Amino acid sequence: MIKSKYLENLVDALTILPGIGRKSAQRMAYELLNSNPEKSLYLSQELQNIDTKISKCKICGLYMDFEEVEKQSEDSCHVCERQNRDTSIVCVVGSASDVYSIDESTNYNGYFFVLQGNLSPIDGKGPSEIGLDKLEKHLVNKNIKELILATNTTIEGEATAHYIKDMTSKKGINVSRLAFGLPLNGEIGFLDNETISHAFNERKII
Ligand SMILES: [Zn+2]
Repeated sequence: MIKSKYLENLVDALTILPGIGRKSAQRMAYELLNSNPEKSLYLSQELQNIDTKISKCKICGLYMDFEEVEKQSEDSCHVCERQNRDTSIVCVVGSASDVYSIDESTNYNGYFFVLQGNLSPIDGKGPSEIGLDKLEKHLVNKNIKELILATNTTIEGEATAHYIKDMTSKKGINVSRLAFGLPLNGEIGFLDNETISHAFNERKII
């Protein structure tokens, strides 16, 4: 039983983070209490910066610093502002970190569009909560001709991909989904049945 109201509040606050239950939150809170106060101040300053220093690109939803917003012409980020960008194609992802992963690993040069997670009605996340209404406007306003679905392969990611596919079907936009399959340098015997089944069904002629 926690005796301090403020310690209790700190534990409650820490549990808002994904994957952090009450036990982990308590451990974190005690770690902060037992550490040098500078550690907590450093953390609290960085948390405050979320609201005051970080903005979102008006085009793709990628996070950027307010200073960067002031320098750009159209509230757009360095990824959207790149020269020779193919502006007729958009890659839809479920999280900003996925943009960096795809950007670093491929030579893709179209737009990105970052959703606020995936559809999850049980958590109150419907189409507008994750930004699908904005995506629909983006497709029309930017005259998008091709859309790449790069949402996660979880149940929610798949449901989101299906929803977007339905949304775009009447707009004459070509839609593709990232391939499912075997990981590189992987051994088939160590993979789960679902991955093998997907890889088998998605096989291609070489
Ligand atoms: Zn952007």
